[in-house]
This record gives sequence, structure tokens and C-alpha cells, in this order.
Amino acid sequence: MGLVETQAIVLQTFKLADADKIVLCMTEKAGLVRGVARGARRLKSKFGASLEPFTLIHLTFFEKETRELVTIKGAEIVKSYFQASKSPETFEGLVYILELVKEFAPPHHADEKLFKMLRACVDFLAGAPGRAAAVNAYTELWILRLTGFLPDFKSCGDCGTPLGESFRGQRYISHEGVIWCQNCRKGGAQTLGAEAFELLSSTRREGPGAWSLSFEGASEEGRRVVAETSRRLVRRALEREPRAGKVSASHI
Ligand SMILES: [Zn+2]
Repeated sequence: MGLVETQAIVLQTFKLADADKIVLCMTEKAGLVRGVARGARRLKSKFGASLEPFTLIHLTFFEKETRELVTIKGAEIVKSYFQASKSPETFEGLVYILELVKEFAPPHHADEKLFKMLRACVDFLAGAPGRAAAVNAYTELWILRLTGFLPDFKSCGDCGTPLGESFRGQRYISHEGVIWCQNCRKGGAQTLGAEAFELLSSTRREGPGAWSLSFEGASEEGRRVVAETSRRLVRRALEREPRAGKVSASHI
């Protein structure tokens, strides 16, 4: 409570009254924060261009225990992604990343790992146009993992057989995201080839750059299974479709 200084990424803004803005930010120290920026829509505002979506800022805000909305006191640009977001595919990819964070991050709950993942994904995608499909799948898997919705890929969900690299049999994944060995698989389970399994389980070890390269180097079938599986798990966690669309892997 009181005055908070933190790094933040602007997710969304809304107009308020004549000259103000409501700003939704993912912050490093306080999680998802919604704040009022007084006078932010005036031509000569002290906030300048800092409160635009996708901008990495140094944010100062005042928080009162009894209010959901904080008051934004200051915002300085650390890095602007305005130029990068002019590419339609990068823009679409960034919108989807922001949408996922908005959907999954609980308000006012600090999650440094989630913030770092968001910053890394936005930064990487802004510098690598054309990689949006890979970065979107990577972001889905990371967010699912941090919020407890990613299945445990280490062992069969029924018999507990270890399914790591040394496993030689066939792996399967259910619609609910349970991983099975060939003895335990039930009707409707999707075959999970070695390539897809490796991609789904390696986001913990790899950053967006390295993981995207592996994703793009995989077969069309491998990419399809990964993209569909991560999307299905997101839909299951939210119990509906996310509002923004994911960039399709068929663009590669
Ligand atoms: Zn089993």
C-alpha cells in the first residue's frame, strides 16, 4: 500500500472522462494493476507516449487499501515497441500475449516469473517479426505452467511410468491434458510424437528464442500437435475461447 515504484508493461488503455485514461498494466512488484492516469489524454501530458499498449515503463503509482483502482503518478518509457507493432503479424502476436496475461494473471498478485516471461516474449517478438506463431505457442505453455494448468510431462498420468527422453514407447495426450503411456491410453487420446513431446515439455529449459527455433525446425505435424495442444489447454483452463486469436502455425 502507499507509493509503489516498479517496472511494468502496458496491456490496455481506456478513455475516461475528457482527458483521463484507465490503464491496465502487468507490473513486476504488484501483478496486474488497473490505474487512473489523470490528464493522460491531453496533448501536453506529463505521461507523454508512455501509456500506450506494449510499452515497457518505469511506473509509479499510489495505492489505497479500499480502492481497486490505483492512481498513476508517473510513467517513464524504458522501451517502446511502437515501431515493431506496425507489422501486422507482430501486432497480432503481441495482442495475443497481452490477452493471455490479462486472462490468467490474478489482480494485485505479484508474480515476478510471469512478468519476466511477458517481458522476454514481448521483447523477443518485437525484434523477430514473423516468429509470432512460435512465440504465441511458447507464451501459452509458459502461462499454463506458471498458473498450474500445464500437465506433468514426466510420467504417465495413470501408471506413473517415467516418460522422459529414455522412454521408448508411444506417448498419448487426452483432451483434458493428461499424458498416458501406450498401456494406459484411453479412447480419443491424441498420439504425441517425440518431437511434439520434446517441444511441449522444454519451455522450462529454453527462452523464447531457442524454443522458437526448435518449433520452426519441427515437422508440420509436430507444430500442429503442439499448437493445438497448447490452445486446447488454454481453452480448458479458461473454460472458453480467449478473446484474441492466436497467430496460426501455418504462416511458417
Ligand atoms: Zn501408463
